[in-house]
Formats: sequence, structure tokens, C-alpha cells
Amino acid sequence: MPEPASEIHARVLAAAADGRLPAPEVVGWDIFPWEVVDGALAPKTLAAPGPAAPREGEEGGTPCHVCAGVPSERIVWEDEDWILTHHGEPSGLPMVLTLWSREHLDAGDFDDDQASTFGRICNRLVRIVQGLDGIGRVHVNRWGDGSAHFHVWFFARPDGFEQIKGSFAVEWDAILPPVEEATWRADLHAVATKLANWGGHARA
Ligand SMILES: [Zn+2]
Repeated sequence: MPEPASEIHARVLAAAADGRLPAPEVVGWDIFPWEVVDGALAPKTLAAPGPAAPREGEEGGTPCHVCAGVPSERIVWEDEDWILTHHGEPSGLPMVLTLWSREHLDAGDFDDDQASTFGRICNRLVRIVQGLDGIGRVHVNRWGDGSAHFHVWFFARPDGFEQIKGSFAVEWDAILPPVEEATWRADLHAVATKLANWGGHARA
């Protein structure tokens, strides 16, 4: 069962007595849009437009790691058409999952049957994860700027924190100290088992 908000807050205070956690790696990324100018936070200047860098799994990009084979230890649940993965270790939010099509397709390329199945799995998964105690909401995100192989992210944010909302929940995933591994694995197992009640195979 995910931690209640009071336990998450206690872990934050144990990691940083004043509650101010270290800045995550993302602040150093080129795409991070903010910087400090004259002591105040300001948007970075927008660089001139240029050609798009190839994504993983498309011409000119690096080979698709999903088509090469997802490591079995990362698989939470799978069936013949879909693979649900985690990222190998817990992060700040209670649970972050990624659903991949088994076939190398991009968003918008599904036929109606594939689109229908995708919608049903999304609906079940959100209901299952949101049904765990301590989860406030599951945010479903598709970006696709890194990998050309279709994937959607599910960010489960904790209940009880008014700051951890909307797209900023993704930032808190990198800021908060990681969830205890045993808690995280137990929650993955619960989600995988419930999803497998509808079909496919639980692997976590
Ligand atoms: Zn692929």
C-alpha cells in the first residue's frame, strides 16, 4: 500500500531538516526552461529554430530499445500486444509506469482495434492505481519526443499535497526522495495482479 502523506512528509524532513530537498538533475537539462537572472527566476531565451534531432527508433536515431527487447525485470504486466514497465527502481512518486505497444508504431498509427484496446487498458490501469490507498490521482501523459516507439506514462501522485498537482507532479517525482523499495514492489505486484484479472500476465 502506498505511504500516507504523513509518512512521505516525515521522510522528506528526515532527508532535509528544513524540508528543502536538493535540486534534481533535470534543472541542468537543455530543455529545462528556467534560469536565475539577476537573482530572480526567469524563462530562458528561446534559441532560433533548427532541424529536429532524430528520436530513438527512427531513421538517424539510436536503435529502438523496446524492439531490441525490454529487460524482463522491468515488466510489470504484458499481453501479446502491450507491455507495461517500471523504471528499475522507485522514484519520488508512489508509482510511475509506462505502457508500450509491442509493435513499433507511433501515436496516431493505431487501427481501431488497437486504439480500442489501448483505451480499455488505460481505463483499467488508472482505476486500479487510483484505487490504492494514498493515491490522489493518476496523470496519463504521452510525449514521444524521446522515443518513436509508442508509449504513454502513468504518474501516480500522492494524496494530501496541494503542491503536487498537474504537470508539476512530474517534477516532484524527481525531487522527492525515492519510495521504500519493498513498498514500491508490493504496490507493483498489486497493480499487476489486478490488471491480469482482465487478461495478460502479471510479471511484477
Ligand atoms: Zn520499437
